[in-house]
Amino acid sequence: MTTQNKFLTITDHNRDVSGMKYVYPVVSRRAGGVSIGVNLNTNNACNWRCIYCSVPNLRRGTPPPIEMDLLAHELRTLLNDVVNGDFMQQHVAEGDRHLKDIAFSGNGEPTSAKEFPQVVLLVEKILREFNLLGGIKVRLITNGSLMDKPTVLESMKDLARCNGEVWFKVDAGSKAAIARINDVNLNPQSHIERLKKCAELCPTFIQTCMFGLDGEQPNATDIADYLALIYEVKPYVQGVHLYGLARPSYQAEANRLSQLSSDFLEGVAQQIRARGLTVFVSP
Ligand code: SF4
Repeated sequence: MTTQNKFLTITDHNRDVSGMKYVYPVVSRRAGGVSIGVNLNTNNACNWRCIYCSVPNLRRGTPPPIEMDLLAHELRTLLNDVVNGDFMQQHVAEGDRHLKDIAFSGNGEPTSAKEFPQVVLLVEKILREFNLLGGIKVRLITNGSLMDKPTVLESMKDLARCNGEVWFKVDAGSKAAIARINDVNLNPQSHIERLKKCAELCPTFIQTCMFGLDGEQPNATDIADYLALIYEVKPYVQGVHLYGLARPSYQAEANRLSQLSSDFLEGVAQQIRARGLTVFVSP
């Protein structure tokens, strides 16, 4: 699919939309304008397998080596079209014609790319060339699992310098629920320690996806475990982005998942607020 003769909408989270390998434009419900996405996981490989994941043909693994020159060329080309060209007029509805952010949001875990720290430095350099450094956000959408790797953690300082922000995934508060939702064997306490380390270096939000499974809403124990876990990082984080099922799952469990009512999500949000955390809800 190309962007020719069409407006981008929130449903166009399609990495092929720009015809580029690593970089894609999207009008994002999350960002409230045009977001330039950077997908480092061109082979649809992730170290997690969330059952709601909207990546088709998702597989376990890490991305192939990043072609840094190609990535730089693509980012400069798209930014030039957005900032100096007619990209907005050609492809974006009038109210959405703002460049909001560059988002590391790909078909897998961005920090699993060996070159991730160099990519952050490259983005900083290119934003400076366009006089955009500090003017737009640079968001990292991550499952946070590799945030204890020194190179990844160190790059959070670089990200912070780029007006960076991390959205760190916490979907559940117990080992069993994390295994059920994210299909990983993860110690919740270790995850929260990684979150703290990350948030100390770069402003960090928790991002949470909630949904029904086999016709059942998350039960009271699941919610209580989740609330207790995120409460531990209250002094460290900027807030919580609480999502319903925004996009269809491409995993085998897809037909077992259902959207929760906005009342249910709002009820969870109120409990988060009651613990003193800021929360943004997208049902
Ligand atoms: S962490 Fe993200 S990319 Fe990886 S499986 Fe989960 S939703 Fe998909």
